[in-house]
Amino acid sequence: MNRLEIARPPLPSTPIMGGCHCGAVRYAITARPKAVNACHCDDCKRLSGATFGVYLHVAKEALDVTSGTFDTFRRTGGSGGTIPIDRCTECGTRMWHLPEAAPGLVILCAGTLDDPSWAVPTSHIFTEEAALDAVAASDALVIEAFNSTRQALWDHFDRLYPS
Ligand SMILES: [Zn+2]
Ligand SMILES: [Zn+2]
Repeated sequence: MNRLEIARPPLPSTPIMGGCHCGAVRYAITARPKAVNACHCDDCKRLSGATFGVYLHVAKEALDVTSGTFDTFRRTGGSGGTIPIDRCTECGTRMWHLPEAAPGLVILCAGTLDDPSWAVPTSHIFTEEAALDAVAASDALVIEAFNSTRQALWDHFDRLYPS
C-alpha cells in the first residue's frame, strides 16, 4: 500500500459532535475514540459508494444520540455475525454499525463528524482489496486481510495517541 508522510493531527477535545446529512440525527461522542480505522473490503465499498470506509471505534456508552430516528439494515460480517447498520430515517445517511458480537462497541462512520479533518486513519484493514491509489499515513497500521482482533487496532491507536 502507498504510504504518505504526514503530521498527524491531534485528537479533538470531547464532546466530539456529528450528525447526518439532513440534520435530523445529531450525536456527541463523550470519550476519546478507540481507533480511526479504514476498511477497504468490498462490503465497505458498496455501503459507502466509495472505495473504502473510515470509522471511529467508540465505546457505546460514549455515544450520546441527541436527536433523530433510524432505519436499521443488517449485514453479515466476515465471521458470520450479524451487524445492524443504522441510517437516518429522513435522509438515509449511514451513521454507524452495531456488531452484535461486540455489544459495547459502535463503529461510527467518520464522515458524519462535523469536523472529520482530524480523523486520519490509524489503521487500514483488508488492504489486499484496496484501490490501486489508496494511501496510508506512514505511521498507520496496515493489515492485508483482517484475521487479528480489534484490540490490535486499539493498541496501535493508543501508541499514536498516548492518553
Ligand atoms: Zn438525516
Ligand atoms: Zn469493510
